Parts: sequence; structure tokens; C-alpha cells
Amino acid sequence: MKTLYLPAADTQTAHTAAEIIKSGGLVAIPTETVYGLGANGLDENAVLKIFEAKGRPQDNPLILHISDPAEIERYCHHIPKAAFDLAEAFWPGPLTIVLPAKSIVPKRTTAGLTTVGIRCPDCTVTREIIRLAGVPIAAPSANISGKPSTTTAQHVLHDHDGRIDAVVDGGPSRVGVESTIVDLTEERPRLLRPGGIGPEQLMEVLGDLIVDKAVTAQIDKDDVVKAPGMKYKHYAPQSEVVIVGGSREKAAEYIRHHFEPGDRVLCFEEELPLYESCNPLSYGQEADVSTLSAGLFAALRELDDPSIHQVYARCPVGGGVAYAVQNRLKKAAAFHIIDAEEEE
Ligand code: AMP
Ligand code: MG
Repeated sequence: MKTLYLPAADTQTAHTAAEIIKSGGLVAIPTETVYGLGANGLDENAVLKIFEAKGRPQDNPLILHISDPAEIERYCHHIPKAAFDLAEAFWPGPLTIVLPAKSIVPKRTTAGLTTVGIRCPDCTVTREIIRLAGVPIAAPSANISGKPSTTTAQHVLHDHDGRIDAVVDGGPSRVGVESTIVDLTEERPRLLRPGGIGPEQLMEVLGDLIVDKAVTAQIDKDDVVKAPGMKYKHYAPQSEVVIVGGSREKAAEYIRHHFEPGDRVLCFEEELPLYESCNPLSYGQEADVSTLSAGLFAALRELDDPSIHQVYARCPVGGGVAYAVQNRLKKAAAFHIIDAEEEE
């Protein structure tokens, strides 16, 4: 199959993409978080194609994308006030809310769960595609399963050229990490995945928040998780990644001491001069965390190279979107973290 390349600025793009969605095809869509691999979320056969193209296990649920916050009531029921409060505060935006699903949502979309993750993305062309298609778009990140997520149309083509119907190019994703996911189906709100909306911002609206264990620690196969897909390996380049924490100076000392030819350093732009002999790659500025979230997956993709043995990574500290960057890097490193302050 030939993959159509549809620039967002082209006036026909939303119509063409919506027609493909309506006829059961696959369209990669830009969003402010990452690029998604989209299909009609109400069509089981279309949704199956997403799992096949990504090589995604079928017990890993998809997020339903809507064009307007009001559409939430078409697909969810027993909606608590907190959901409307979150939608009011953060939609359109990088927040997914997990709610009880109405029966109109196929089991294949929710991976057999009785709940569904729903989000109104902050991307004009994608909301227009959803509106014109007249159906919600189910979309996970557009990467091949297990690989770093896609934040440009070029990443999507790298993984799927010739295997999907179209890609809409809306430029690089502004946030760069996947949406924050909050589950509102239990007594207390639960953070399942950090993202562009920080835990502090959620607390301001909800007044309460539990952080799920999957956010902070490696989940093993016997743990009970909210969605089975949370157990899968994520974001990992082929090389070993280790996070080196501690002050700029101590970390540089540790890394330069252990660095061997063929290794790489993933660091902040401000640190590049410290690693001149270590083939460094910067993913953004420590002083502006939004550049780190925006640059993280492109950098992890560049480091997804079998000839690289070890990647030493620097990770920002703090809350907000830095919390999401920490989470993705820790997962890429399988929670392998060294504190340079404690090393000799
Ligand atoms: P992706 O966008 O590729 O990260 O995939 C969507 C993620 O959303 C899944 O991996 C799940 O962890 C999460 N998700 C989607 N629907 C639900 C749900 N009903 N309950 C819990 N988590 C969900
Ligand atoms: Mg994903």
C-alpha cells in the first residue's frame, strides 16, 4: 500500500483523512503530545488494524480521541463531577481521563475493560478530522510497540511507510511525551501515567490524587495493574540506558570515568562542553524543561542503534512535565539509576 503524505496546512487534508477513517483505514495523526496511529474507535475491524500495524498486544487498551469535550457523554457513563472539572481545566489538552465505557465502545478498543480512556487533543487539524469523520478516533502512539514514541511525521514514516493509509504532518509535537492519564473509576483519583499536565496541576482541581505504582517502579508480571498493557516494556532503545543522577560535576566525573568507545551520553544542552570526548547528544535545555520533553523521543530514536553499547543519560529533577520526562527515561532505562554523588 502507498502511504499518503498529507500536510496539515493543505485545505483538503482533514477531508481526505476523515474519509479514510470513515472507510475503516489507518491514519497517523499529529497531536500536541505525540503522533497517534488512528482508526475509527467504534469499528472493531479498523481498530484491529492498529494492533497489527504496531505489533501491539491486544490486552493494551487504546485512548479514544474526541473533537469536543461535550462528546464525552456519547462514550462514557456514570461520569463524576471531577471529570467535568478536569475537562474544563485542561481540554483540549494533554490529559486522558479513564471513565466507565458505554456499550457503544467496542471491547477491542478497551482491550476488554469496562472502562475507556478519553481525551480531547489540542491540535486543530486532528480535531477537525474527528469532527468530519463523525466518530471518535482510537489512537495509541504511532511507534512500533516497545519503541520510543513518534513525535514527527518522519518518525511515523520510518516505522510504518507502506503499511498505513496516510500520515498527516502537523510538524513536531509540542509537548513531546504522551498524555497524563487519570483514572476516575475508583473512590480516589489515580495517576496512571504522568504527562504534559503535572500532578500539582491535577491536585489543584481534584484536591486528591494517588500515584499508581506503575509510575514510580518497575512492574513485574505478578503485580495487579489497572490496565494489562501497563506491564509492557516501553520506550526502550536497543542499547542499555542508565540514568546518572547527581550534580552536573559529579555526574560528568562518573560518566567520563566509565565511558568506553561506542557508548553515548544523553545530556542537557548546557552540559555538552563537559562531554566533548564522549559523543554527547543533547535533548534540550535543563533551564527549560519543555524543550526536554519535546526532544526526548527524537533523541531516544537516534540512540536506537545496535552499535551503541551503553547510553549514560541525564534526567531533570522536579515536578510538572519534568515528572513525565523522569518517568519515560526511567522506563527506557528499566529503572537502572546511579547516584554519582555516592560513587567513588
Ligand atoms: P499509548 O497511547 O500507546 O501510550 O497507549 C495508551 C495507554 O493508555 C495504554 O497503554 C494504557 O496504559 C492507557 N489506557 C487506555 N485506556 C485505559 C483504560 N481504560 N484503563 C487504564 N488505562 C488505559
Ligand atoms: Mg505508546
